[in-house]
Amino acid sequence: MTMLTRRHFGALLAGASFAVAAPSVLRAQNGPRLVVIGGGFGGASAARYARMAYPDVAVTLIEPYTSFVTCPYGNLILGGKRELSQITHSYDGLRARGVDVVHEWASEIDPVAKTVALADGASVAYDKLILSPGIGIRWGELEGYDEAASEIFPHAWMGGDGSQISNLRRQIENLPEGGVVGLAIPGNPFRCPPGPYERISMIAHYLKQHNPTAKILAFDSKEGFSKQGLFQDGWAELYGDMIEWIPANLDGTIVRVDPAEKVFESEFGERHRVDVGNVIPPQFAAAIARDAGLANETGWVPVDPATFAAAAAPDIHVIGDANIAPPMPKSGYVANTTSKVAVAAAIADLRGEPAPENPVYFNTCYSHVGADYGISVAGVYRLDADGKIIETPDSGGISPRGPLADHAHQRAREAVYADGWYESITRDMFS
Ligand SMILES: Cc1cc2nc3c(=O)[nH]c(=O)nc-3n(C[C@H](O)[C@H](O)[C@H](O)COP(=O)(O)OP(=O)(O)OC[C@H]3O[C@@H](n4cnc5c(N)ncnc54)[C@H](O)[C@@H]3O)c2cc1C
Repeated sequence: MTMLTRRHFGALLAGASFAVAAPSVLRAQNGPRLVVIGGGFGGASAARYARMAYPDVAVTLIEPYTSFVTCPYGNLILGGKRELSQITHSYDGLRARGVDVVHEWASEIDPVAKTVALADGASVAYDKLILSPGIGIRWGELEGYDEAASEIFPHAWMGGDGSQISNLRRQIENLPEGGVVGLAIPGNPFRCPPGPYERISMIAHYLKQHNPTAKILAFDSKEGFSKQGLFQDGWAELYGDMIEWIPANLDGTIVRVDPAEKVFESEFGERHRVDVGNVIPPQFAAAIARDAGLANETGWVPVDPATFAAAAAPDIHVIGDANIAPPMPKSGYVANTTSKVAVAAAIADLRGEPAPENPVYFNTCYSHVGADYGISVAGVYRLDADGKIIETPDSGGISPRGPLADHAHQRAREAVYADGWYESITRDMFS
């Protein structure tokens, strides 16, 4: 994002200090209209940056929930390291910057008339639309898993009102002594590739203290996963044989669930009884993106990697988990960094200017393996000569492997850095 930084650094600083002093004066009513759907990692970041960099642009953010519960750090609630209130964020900071925050569901997008219909019957016109609605669940693809089943086997894979993660935590707290927690983990692509394995770790962290004879069975539809060696080293070091990870080639793919009987059924017909079930279901782009005809046959939205304009509608920029942007993972950090390029490209187009050149995107994913045991993977991404996103060679990296005794300091530091990451990205979205 070097171009945006260079071009608008002065405006960003001026906008930031002025907005705090006199937000109502900054509120642009007659400028170009940028509408943002979804007030999460991509959308909140986009709305905030649009107001900071382009004070003449009227920004409307459409988001049904009156506060935002982050998925990042949700696993720490399961580990007993965080409370829901500590991962819940207000939209007041965005309002203070002059963003019109409308708490309603967007029900339909008309890309020709350039309007968004809201669930309450209102309609909002846009010149450019930033769409960051996150994921939808493919209900029913895993037989037996519908919305009612998710009350018994919570997914806790979307923030929503926080009830899913609270439900899962309650169930883990009430697990019978020596009971079994089962996880069903989907195939790629899905939101947050290391997320299920951090979740396993944080559940183990809780159980080790409160229910040490309990077991965790992690049924996986894949044969490998993000930061696998680091996670498995940590599991062995911290939790002994509490965790059993069952990959696809060992019949780990769960194809059917029976919430009434508390059973997970595998591809080859094995029935596994669990006391607590966490089903992380197959996913696709959220309904609003698919219903607008923006997704392709994969269920995700193809975009221009330089601008995030949807292939099917150039005035709609789709950021965050809903789009297709490999090799970048579906992460909050990627949603945040790409939001800035999407906003700059959208506004440049309205002004008849070229999109920012040579965009650079970043990702860092920290995971907690234990309370003071962090690991990470980082990547820097650019476009190659063909305009495809590639990971910049030798740019990122992964925490070194090795016995805890040799890496205790680094593991402890990375847990602290993770806290710093969470603090700074949520400020970059909401302050
Ligand atoms: C357990 C877990 C741990 C994670 N940990 C990390 C981590 O450590 N680091 C990291 O970078 N990422 C992490 N992630 C991934 C991260 O949460 C997502 O990648 C990120 O939230 C994607 O941002 P988004 O804007 O696409 O979607 P979201 O942040 O989910 O925001 C989408 C918003 O759109 C709203 N919305 C949906 N439909 C509509 C509609 N029709 N009208 C209006 N609004 C709508 C939703 O209410 C929601 O607020 C984690 C995910 C999970 C599940």
